[in-house]
Amino acid sequence: MHQITKSNNLFEEAQKYIPGGVNSPVRAFKAVGGNPIFIKKAKGAFIFDEDGNEYIELINSWGPMILGHANSKIEEAVQKAISGSLSFGAPTAIEIEMAKTICEMVPSIEKVRMVNSGTEATMSAIRLARGYTGRSKVIKFEGCYHGHGDSFLIAAGSGAITLGEPNSPGVTKGTAQDTVTVPFNDVNKVHEAVRANKENVAAIIVEPVAGNMGCVLPAEGFLEGLREICNAEGIVLIFDEVMTGFRLSPSGAQGVFDVQPDITTLGKIIGGGMPVGAYGGKREIMDFVSPVGPVYQAGTLSGNPVAMAAGLAMLSQIKEDQTLYSDLALITAKLENGLQEGLDNLGLPYTINRIGSMISVFFTSEKVSNFEDAKKSDLNLFGQYFREMLKRGVYLPPSQFESWFISKSITPNLVDRIVEASNESLRVIHQ
Ligand code: PMP
Repeated sequence: MHQITKSNNLFEEAQKYIPGGVNSPVRAFKAVGGNPIFIKKAKGAFIFDEDGNEYIELINSWGPMILGHANSKIEEAVQKAISGSLSFGAPTAIEIEMAKTICEMVPSIEKVRMVNSGTEATMSAIRLARGYTGRSKVIKFEGCYHGHGDSFLIAAGSGAITLGEPNSPGVTKGTAQDTVTVPFNDVNKVHEAVRANKENVAAIIVEPVAGNMGCVLPAEGFLEGLREICNAEGIVLIFDEVMTGFRLSPSGAQGVFDVQPDITTLGKIIGGGMPVGAYGGKREIMDFVSPVGPVYQAGTLSGNPVAMAAGLAMLSQIKEDQTLYSDLALITAKLENGLQEGLDNLGLPYTINRIGSMISVFFTSEKVSNFEDAKKSDLNLFGQYFREMLKRGVYLPPSQFESWFISKSITPNLVDRIVEASNESLRVIHQ
């Protein structure tokens, strides 16, 4: 029996002092029903709640823990950094090492600025694109999530869809007017949007592989099409690789699809689990950032020495492990095949999308290549599936509109356990 008494008590207490009891909305399990489990610790492929239940980890802190939890090299690096004080607010050598590593790993990045979250990275990138071009509009794609900056909470994905607030109150009309949304994977609609806002589009921002409406791959020619439009119109192309950076290859989705953006935003894996983000790109554009240029952006804790130590320990392991991405793709393909076989055996027509170690099961029989398609999923059924999986010791993202993240700690044996749990869960919810 899956007991979560302590978690339930903690959730009750948490709601007294924290809005909704959580510090980020999707953690509340609101979309899937039931109360969130409160986490005590995690190691490798496993996460443990306050009641002592063990789960196979498929959230991995929403992406960062690509090597599994409590990685010894990252922890050692953090401990060493801590002994020299937690923060200086002054330049350090380790920041250069971090910047150099990023520039080497992601060739489209010639200069990079560290920040403290993915949200900060995208907010800063968009301001930079506006400052650089002298234009005001931004094109984004429905169902893509770029953090909670005002400009991006228009048809936004992730928790914003999950909780039914793709357009958040509190974002002024003026701000919303400067964001133009188009369907993902539709280059023609981008052309139309650019024509309708002639000479006034500063940037096109896109998750090159969307992870925030569930995992949705770019159609053939989509990213190339965006690159061409940006070249022709003098628009800054921003790849938001907060999720895909160092997840799909050492140089992110841009390495996989061989399309180079002007600016890349990074987060998650780059911090090794610490709160870190970054934005970087062409030298000419990055030199518009203060203090060398006029576009202001700053941060008391940016480039924090402990965060840099964690991030570098993560990136150096990624660089050294020649088979990391092929191993991750192989194990996730095994998971995909197992899940697909289970669906086939039960005669269930649901859709699985996967690339590398990102995977989503959509509870719809139709192909999912944009937000409209993703929204056809049966959310109630997903909620039931989620709860059955949790009872069986598998910790999935608590929303249909999120990707699952596979870590290096997931073994073939664990994949078998996930598939078995999935088959049982599907049987139960379709009784
Ligand atoms: N961009 C993308 C593509 C993301 O997936 C996220 C977070 N899920 C963000 C931006 C925002 O990052 P953060 O939560 O660190 O602010």
